[in-house]
Amino acid sequence: MYQSFIGLEVHIHLLTKTKVFCGCRSAFGDEPNTNVCPVCMGYPGVLPSLNIEAMRMGSMVARALHCRIPEQTWFERKQYFYPDMPKNYQISQFASPLGQEGYLDLVGKHMKKRVRIKECHLEEDAGKMIHTGTVSLLDYNRAGVSLLEIVTEPDMETGEEAELFIQQLRRTVRYLGVCDGNMEEGSLRADANVSINLPGKGLGRKVEIKNLNSSRFVRLGLTYEIQRQKERLDQGKQVIQETRLWNENRDQTEPMRTKENAQDYRYFPEPDLPVFAPDPAFRASVEAALVELPAPRMERLKQDYGLSREQAELICEEKALADYFEEALAAAAAQGFDIQDGAGRIANWLLTDIKHLLNREGIALANIAAFRLSPQRLAALVVMVARGQVSMKNGKQAMDRVIAEDRDPAELIREAGWEQLSDPVQIGKAVEAVYAAEAAVFVQTRAACAAGNRKRQRTLTAYLVGRVLEQTGGRADPKIAGAQIESLMQTL
Ligand code: ADP
Ligand code: ZN
Ligand code: MG
Repeated sequence: MYQSFIGLEVHIHLLTKTKVFCGCRSAFGDEPNTNVCPVCMGYPGVLPSLNIEAMRMGSMVARALHCRIPEQTWFERKQYFYPDMPKNYQISQFASPLGQEGYLDLVGKHMKKRVRIKECHLEEDAGKMIHTGTVSLLDYNRAGVSLLEIVTEPDMETGEEAELFIQQLRRTVRYLGVCDGNMEEGSLRADANVSINLPGKGLGRKVEIKNLNSSRFVRLGLTYEIQRQKERLDQGKQVIQETRLWNENRDQTEPMRTKENAQDYRYFPEPDLPVFAPDPAFRASVEAALVELPAPRMERLKQDYGLSREQAELICEEKALADYFEEALAAAAAQGFDIQDGAGRIANWLLTDIKHLLNREGIALANIAAFRLSPQRLAALVVMVARGQVSMKNGKQAMDRVIAEDRDPAELIREAGWEQLSDPVQIGKAVEAVYAAEAAVFVQTRAACAAGNRKRQRTLTAYLVGRVLEQTGGRADPKIAGAQIESLMQTL
């Protein structure tokens, strides 16, 4: 019945060591008001100077979002009063932001959609106000921290699409290493704009939902807001153009301030900062820093290695995990192991056992590089199991000990006597021993076979294979043991 329009404004903290216009440390969680200086405290007469790393990181995001980097980009002063902003203006970008007119392709399970990026601009963050009972405290550590704002066109339609956008953008900036994407700590925050209208009537009157600090709240807030606007229009009322807040305790949006008229920020060019004209060397350094992004990497893992969509998606969730996977695969290939086969096996180990182990050890996926089970060690285990040199069970047990003892898997398996037994003579001896103890079961198996009772036959055979494994300390190759039991049974 109605058409909906959603545009996002996402702020990300860039991981520059220092702030955007001064040399103060840029860090989360330090003692309040320790990372400050006259520039970021807004003393009169001080001069800002541009942190080129912030410009480079911002440009990397812009390029990853297919934005154009203009010939010249500069800064403006955006005037407004807020207690945590000491200068009473914010240095931001208005007329020529550092990245312009790009896009991000949303890729969902059953959808693909291009969201146009209007711009990316660099600005300074404000300080933080902490309200404690009757007083409010100010912490200026965050004042002047590099903030990149990414503004989309109103191309999304549902809360789900907006949530997906945030997730994909978050993954992208983490891949680039320019933002940690931590929404709880405020390193990535989103404001969501939404309007609805009758089909064909264009954009409606928009409501802005501020400070959504999780991608889930983005979805919930927008879904709620679209429904609220529908109900108003259905009742013949108008939507009031305003700013609302998401109340996570009541699961609803609530009015914060009306915004009937666009606020006049009286933008004017920042006189203390020169125009920035990216030269070829700067552009080249930005291009050189662009890593393969999650979406194309996922596609490549599917194409080249035959991974399923789910596997590729899970592995590409974190760059470190995808790197680990490809290193393990390279190590398996270096042992002459088939690449497609190896990819499937490594993905299986990675997404089941290893995820559990990382969890147990308290290692985040992003830190998998610090895991004692290096990709080379994992590859060694996977290959040994696949080649029947060690049983799956002993292989997994070996993995545990490799981690606990920080050792080489092949050596450990050899020492523990876990190398799989595939010598038919030795396995034959174990089968004989089991026959001596379990002749009745062999006879029952034979009877089940003769009666065509396949299910019972399989169960009994599995039991006998288990007994042979027991005899050999779990080392006998179960396939060979099964075949020998089968032929012995046939002679009865
Ligand atoms: P403002 O001047 O209020 O900041 P902008 O034009 O800068 O508005 O847009 C801010 C964000 O709001 C952008 O993401 C844009 O896509 C989105 N937006 C603008 N108009 C609408 C609308 N009518 N409905 C939904 N989203 C909108
Ligand atoms: Zn400072
Ligand atoms: Mg705006």
